[in-house]
Amino acid sequence: MTLARFAGATDPGRRRRRNEDSYVIDPPVFAVADGMGGAQAGEVASKLAAGAVKEHGADVESLVQEANRRVHQRSLEDPNTSGMGTTLTVAAVEDSVVSIGHVGDSRAYLVRDGNLEQLTEDHSLVGELMRTGKLSAEEAGSHPQRSMITRALGTDPNVDVDIFSVEPRIGDLFLLCSDGLTSMVDDREILRLVGEKRGDLQGLVKVLIKAANKGGGEDNI
Ligand code: MN
Repeated sequence: MTLARFAGATDPGRRRRRNEDSYVIDPPVFAVADGMGGAQAGEVASKLAAGAVKEHGADVESLVQEANRRVHQRSLEDPNTSGMGTTLTVAAVEDSVVSIGHVGDSRAYLVRDGNLEQLTEDHSLVGELMRTGKLSAEEAGSHPQRSMITRALGTDPNVDVDIFSVEPRIGDLFLLCSDGLTSMVDDREILRLVGEKRGDLQGLVKVLIKAANKGGGEDNI
């Protein structure tokens, strides 16, 4: 498959002083990580995960497991980072498939034929309540524990990773993002902005960040 174009950016948002999100654009591998932990531990966790992803040559599963080992190991060695963790969503563009590895509540989307499809499942409390029909999408958006994740990278020696692949078609657009975008901008608006700006991906990334900030910018984007 030909990787035509790609772009990426991050922004602290309007409420947080630090930016604990990290991203990787290292074709053919792309990733987003959203760190969590006290003090600066969230930044450490997401940067460690991003660093592991940059070392190619491994399949997606081993890559995510390696990222998990590094974050967990550091959290044992450095008491300031005890209990830290991060989300990690990785996309690797291979010959005829895009392989996705995923832990946490960051997301991978596919825009195809004018539709926006969320490829990943949110490993979050509200995500699980929604999947079992106990919560509607509307209720989830305002749930007091909507930022609580149920699976993270680095908090345990082993991590359960969602791995799957997508057969790409010409014209597909893949979007990886942290919850700082999706908690502030709904899917319809994301799709509308993609439609408007897909000829200029760097411009698209900027308008997505702008929309999240306009929606409140309550988290790193
Ligand atoms: Mn976040």
